[in-house]
Amino acid sequence: MNVAFIGLGIMGKPMVLNLRKAGHTVFVHGRRTESMTPLSEAGCTACQSAAEAASKTEIIIVMVSDTPDVEQVIFGDNGVIHGARPGAVVVDMSTISPTATRRFAETLRARGIEMLDAPVSGGDVGAINATLSIMVGGKPGVFARVKPVFEAMGKNIVHVGDNGAGQVAKACNQIVVAVTIEAVAEALTFARKNGVDPAKVRDALMGGFAGSRILEVHGKRMLDNEYTPGFRTRLHQKDMNIVMQTAKELGLALPGAALVMQHLNALMGTGGAELDSAAVMKIVERESGMERP
Ligand code: NAP
Repeated sequence: MNVAFIGLGIMGKPMVLNLRKAGHTVFVHGRRTESMTPLSEAGCTACQSAAEAASKTEIIIVMVSDTPDVEQVIFGDNGVIHGARPGAVVVDMSTISPTATRRFAETLRARGIEMLDAPVSGGDVGAINATLSIMVGGKPGVFARVKPVFEAMGKNIVHVGDNGAGQVAKACNQIVVAVTIEAVAEALTFARKNGVDPAKVRDALMGGFAGSRILEVHGKRMLDNEYTPGFRTRLHQKDMNIVMQTAKELGLALPGAALVMQHLNALMGTGGAELDSAAVMKIVERESGMERP
């Protein structure tokens, strides 16, 4: 199939390479010209604007940072909307606000253009290995049209519901990840303060109900006091901001998520923006005088 792909960062670049590997024809656009060079070398066609890339295909993927970035790429000067033809599908794979997503989908539909929200989890490793989990919102028929393209980039591909439902699922994912990171950090600090080896405690917990991927992966980072990302704190803070903003719009109390948001804020304020978000441990330790060098 012919696919346009806009946003060639940590996630976008390997996702494009996997689309090529699966035999799709890809028209790429990155706001820095040099970000397109390795993809041109891999056989993609470089386009000077999002509008130009969108004009070439019926499936237009966007993978940029935050809600205002998606809005700019779709509706701004030289944006997707200035090139996309009626009948095309805009597939936003960035993690952004569900409320804004529904608004974008309505505006596009008025122009005869469909939209899917299809945020991912699995990190850069999942993007490189084409094993991303993809959570999709939009019409079932549109999902069926785009599914072969998703299959080139991911493994666990779930149509969750109507427009915005994919972003809601991603926000749920981030709530579970954040609150579990907090729980693991508190438990391992509790062990250490009691004079008990936290590594042994982690081993003991892994086999029972408290076992999880977070205890395994993030717990190890906490034990090692080694926070090379992984998933950067500034991106996790962005995602929890989406969660808290949506909860505010709905009049919904999320006290656990709100608490972790404060710890992410503190981590950002103490120079941790580029660390893996498991470094919430550093804030938990600091609060109880348990810092490690
Ligand atoms: P990234 O490396 O920062 O890449 C973002 C890309 O979007 C960059 O190439 C950037 O261009 C481009 N961009 C941002 N704003 C733009 C704008 N207004 N106009 C045009 N281009 C713009 O981020 P990433 O890690 O690939 O993440 C992309 C999305 O996936 C985010 O929503 C993130 O939350 C989500 N995500 C990331 C991970 C992860 O582990 N990294 C996992 C799951 C989901 P420049 O290169 O010019 O800055």
